[in-house]
Amino acid sequence: MALHKIGDEDGARFDDVYASPLSGRELAKLRIGEQPHDPAVVYQLIHDELDLDGNAAQNLATFCTTWNDPLVHTLMNENMNKNMIDKDEYPQTAEIESRCVNILADLWHAGRDAAAVGCSTTGSSEAGMLGGLALKWRWRARRKADGKPADRPNLVCGPVQVCWEKFARYFDVELRQVPLLDDATGLRPEQLRDYVDENTIGVVAILGVTFTCDYEPVKAIAAELDAIQRDTGLDIPIHIDGASGGFIAPFIQPELEWDFRITRVSSINTSGHKYGLAPLGVGWIVWRSAEDLPEELVFRVDYLGGDMPTFALNFSRPGSEVIAQYYLLLRLGREGYRRVQQACSDTAAWLADQVAAMGPFTMLYSGRGALPALSYTLSDPGEAGFTLYELSDELRMRGWQVAAYPLPPRRQETVIHRVLIRHGISTDKAALFARDLRDAVAHLRNPREGRPIAFHH
Ligand SMILES: *Cc1c(COP(=O)(O)O)cnc(C)c1O
Repeated sequence: MALHKIGDEDGARFDDVYASPLSGRELAKLRIGEQPHDPAVVYQLIHDELDLDGNAAQNLATFCTTWNDPLVHTLMNENMNKNMIDKDEYPQTAEIESRCVNILADLWHAGRDAAAVGCSTTGSSEAGMLGGLALKWRWRARRKADGKPADRPNLVCGPVQVCWEKFARYFDVELRQVPLLDDATGLRPEQLRDYVDENTIGVVAILGVTFTCDYEPVKAIAAELDAIQRDTGLDIPIHIDGASGGFIAPFIQPELEWDFRITRVSSINTSGHKYGLAPLGVGWIVWRSAEDLPEELVFRVDYLGGDMPTFALNFSRPGSEVIAQYYLLLRLGREGYRRVQQACSDTAAWLADQVAAMGPFTMLYSGRGALPALSYTLSDPGEAGFTLYELSDELRMRGWQVAAYPLPPRRQETVIHRVLIRHGISTDKAALFARDLRDAVAHLRNPREGRPIAFHH
């Protein structure tokens, strides 16, 4: 929308954004300007600046939603001024939040007696911190009841997302990150005994490891903690970081037991804005029962003359993301989510086969059994003639964004690529990516041949 009727500015009339005074200079970067400007001009200039960002639809590095149903936009527009915290002013938004919690608790097999409690958050980071805080408070209460010191809490986990490092630092908990075994991509049960002790507030198991996208073996981890309890008396709860998997497993791996079916699992977080398919800005946490969430962490706000318990790090927050989440749950239902996630998963498996057949790569995860994604490494980094970092740069020339990074400790020497397939990435788009990946490899191996242009094959 470059052409508009534009009002008076500096006494002159213009009818083209790019002939206006504001477009003839750099935008304010350090200090607020003195004068107002025509909104259509300002809109267009900001819009143009943001074209410099990467194209979200070609961002294969993110887990987050990059495609939204048009009606999601409509509902969000209508509700963007509703504050999630003002439960008395916006009681229906509050009600919708609690319906989503109930639906998630049910999807995660919390049981039909509605004992589970939970809330929305800004994402899995905040949700994880709330889960960690509940674990810390419960552990401290147990220690105090036993007359034992409660000043050195630790949390045991595998290769967690950075939010758990933040939790540990911000809330004074020692993070015992178990290093990876040689051929493992996550925490393995046989490692636990060396890391847990009486100061362990909980174990975090990840459903969808950020680095490689496979699942940690929750059931086996729980069984090992059962064995540890039998041998030592330590009763250590599990929190599941299901940032991605919390919205995948219930739909396409329904037989997999990872959730409240396992009694040791006390809380689960997920990102509504990842495979929950909601737009950015919503996460969820659910506790098995009110006993798993210490009362001291819950704040009461007035709610239509009654009181409404809240647990959050933020105060004000938009209600529209939560409303969008509810729309998606209603709109898709179990079968709709199943089809969307299965389509992504099939595309990921198809792309993994393509990548595996290219030659230089060894797959770490081939898109089957966990998240709709793939991860791979160079089979022989010394012989390949290029690094995965260079390959990412090369792909970027075609607009694709693919994360290249080293695995976590004890496997840091292994650099990997991770490709996420989300709602909005069709098999056709994956095929275009596969072609560009093949061409990028060819070009890196033989730069003198020039970069292939995209209109062949
Ligand atoms: C993305 C992610 C997080 C952080 O979630 P946000 O919703 O981005 O705050 C935490 N844990 C895992 C495993 C993740 O993939």
